[in-house]
Amino acid sequence: MFPMRAYHADQFVLPLPPGHPFPMGKYRLLREAVHEHLPLLRILQAEPASDEELALAHEPEWIDAVAQGRTTAAQQREIGFPWSSAMVERARRSVGATIAAARAALFDDEGVAANLAGGTHHAFAHKGSGYCVFNDVAVAARLMQIEAHRRRQPLLRVWVIDLDVHQGNGTAAIFRDDESVFTLSLHGQKNFPFRKEASDLDVELPDDCDDERYLEALQAALDAAWARQASAPPGLAFYLAGADPHVDDRLGRLALSEQGLAARDRLVFERLRRLGIPVAVSMAGGYNRDPQVTVRIHRRTLELADAAATAWALDRQRGPDARGQMEQWPRSPPPAAAVSACAPFYD
Ligand SMILES: [Zn+2]
Repeated sequence: MFPMRAYHADQFVLPLPPGHPFPMGKYRLLREAVHEHLPLLRILQAEPASDEELALAHEPEWIDAVAQGRTTAAQQREIGFPWSSAMVERARRSVGATIAAARAALFDDEGVAANLAGGTHHAFAHKGSGYCVFNDVAVAARLMQIEAHRRRQPLLRVWVIDLDVHQGNGTAAIFRDDESVFTLSLHGQKNFPFRKEASDLDVELPDDCDDERYLEALQAALDAAWARQASAPPGLAFYLAGADPHVDDRLGRLALSEQGLAARDRLVFERLRRLGIPVAVSMAGGYNRDPQVTVRIHRRTLELADAAATAWALDRQRGPDARGQMEQWPRSPPPAAAVSACAPFYD
């Protein structure tokens, strides 16, 4: 049994003008926090995604424009970053990190693995938006489907659980006509993007939504999403664990506490584990007034993910019956042992 794998690309730092609102420093701070608090986690550098891989979810014209520095001023404004070669490399590596996490979770049977960045869900097939250049989850989902096919496995269905406070509009649009990928997005109704796309299931939350109402909505959303997928269940999930539903997030508008966000993560990991669905986790957004709070929220997500990876490995050791009765979920409550397996890090 090994600690969870987490992939990073934080050595590629964008040159941003002074006062730029994007918290570029959080990725390095997160890796330092992980070193300090989760010293056993296997932190690995991600490989860059190739043009061929990016083309699974993006139009070649967009990939070329980014790669060759031909994005227009308007396109750069929509992304929110000025073009730079570091931006291209960072975007490729961030996609590569989600690809690597998905492979570890799915094909290496580790159950859970993470990208210390990623969750770039505002990127569309033909353009970037909202600090997102390429859509890591969309590319990784399509690539894992191909790799599963190459291994002569049945069609790999994918579940995207997007709990960043902003709607996963790019992901929703990319998979709009793709029945093999189920997109679930819980987000602030009045928040960016102001023109929403249609996910398979969208849950819009009012401003100042607190822990209790949020967790209720999430439970109901997971139930509803599963009810629609149970007859053809997903073999892989992507979880966008945005830190930006926090009450003090500059771009959030919701009112979750750090404890509420940890409870959210625990709920997702526990349900996926009980369903036997491996998951690749991306950090997604986090713009807290205090950057240390953003880092702490992401770090707790990684702690809970690591605990879920351990639980997954134990399930595997116990054999196929250990994840038994999953088909009955959510009608039966989780066994007490399953709940406590993810509990030690929750506070
Ligand atoms: Zn966000």
